[in-house]
Amino acid sequence: MSLDNFLYSGFKFSTDEDLLKFKFKMLNSIFIIVAFFSALFALLSDFDINDIGPIHSKVDYVYSFLTIMLIFFLRSSKKNYNLTAHLLLTISLITFTSALIFVPQDEFRMIWFYLLIFVAYIVSGKMSGILYTLASIVIILSFNSFVDLELSPVAINSGILGLLIGSFLSYVYTNKITNYENSLKKQNSSLSILASTDYLTGIMNRRMFNDISEHYFLTAQKNNFNLTLLLLDLDHFKKVNDTYGHQAGDHLLKHFVETIEKILNKSDIFARIGGEEFAILLSQINDDNAYLLAEQIRKEVENLFITYEGQTIFVTTSIGISENRSTDTAFENIFSRSDMALYQAKHEGRNRTCYSDLSNDTVSCSQTTEFEFVLDYSI
Ligand code: GH3
Ligand code: MG
Ligand code: MG
Repeated sequence: MSLDNFLYSGFKFSTDEDLLKFKFKMLNSIFIIVAFFSALFALLSDFDINDIGPIHSKVDYVYSFLTIMLIFFLRSSKKNYNLTAHLLLTISLITFTSALIFVPQDEFRMIWFYLLIFVAYIVSGKMSGILYTLASIVIILSFNSFVDLELSPVAINSGILGLLIGSFLSYVYTNKITNYENSLKKQNSSLSILASTDYLTGIMNRRMFNDISEHYFLTAQKNNFNLTLLLLDLDHFKKVNDTYGHQAGDHLLKHFVETIEKILNKSDIFARIGGEEFAILLSQINDDNAYLLAEQIRKEVENLFITYEGQTIFVTTSIGISENRSTDTAFENIFSRSDMALYQAKHEGRNRTCYSDLSNDTVSCSQTTEFEFVLDYSI
């Protein structure tokens, strides 16, 4: 077992679990320090080298043993972290209380509570820090009243004042770190949204589509699910830009996307994979329904128009469809068949849906006529 494997309890951490990773490292390091030194203190006392008394010496052995047990408990599940941290803090509080009562010859024994509070803030956060500060103060004050701790009132006052100051400084620091971590998380999530979203239309971009489609493909092949890919390319879009300007083209692209989003289900994958090229990935839909959906989209787009600076602009789309086959080895296979079908749709006059036919390995198309205004462009 490597040192890293030990410090991270054998777990792997994602990039947004950086702070948790650090906390695992801290907690495991603390376990080793506690287990080693508490056993050492007990042994030194048993050999009359450093007398901490027979009772506290036994408490220290138990403390060391329980700490080693916590190492194994933490390794059993990542979710055990909070409970493990609290267990460590609780057994530490009990052990330090024992030192307070049973080792009166040690004038500096209050120092253990300082360490406890500091560790509570680091491994368990602000609330734990406050909780263990209060618990430490209550224990020191109440034991001093009921048991003779042999600590002078001045020592008690200085000790508690020191605890409060230490706790306050640790609170401020932990608070800052927590806020910093939260803002980093927010920044990371908005960055990853930006990296996966198309800036103009707000839908998924090609990069994200590539990642996701391969994953969908593998799942579909493994479970014998249908996976259907529709590739859409706007017809004569260059001429829309040339005639009405690029901004009008942008406007039209946005409306095109909104129109299709209204037709699709939330679970369907819809991505802009090129300038005026789009992909729709449908899971578990049979080929007849996929074709009907494509035709519905094509017709809705045919009826779509926008008014831009007083001009009415129309657009049509060609669609190529293909679904996964058992012989496919990569998503690329479906993509190239849909692309061929799309090419055929363009070739046969645009504004139509063509699909890659599995039965005879050909491409078949819907019979439509190229839209009138598109013909105008073609003149
Ligand atoms: P076809 O029917 O064969 O697809 O013809 P087309 O003119 O649509 O095809 P082509 O691929 O030649 O041109 C695509 C055009 O799409 C070129 C470019 O001006 C336009 N385009 C690409 N991205 C954008 C964009 O973000 N905004 C705008 N307004 N136009 C874009
Ligand atoms: Mg194109
Ligand atoms: Mg085009």
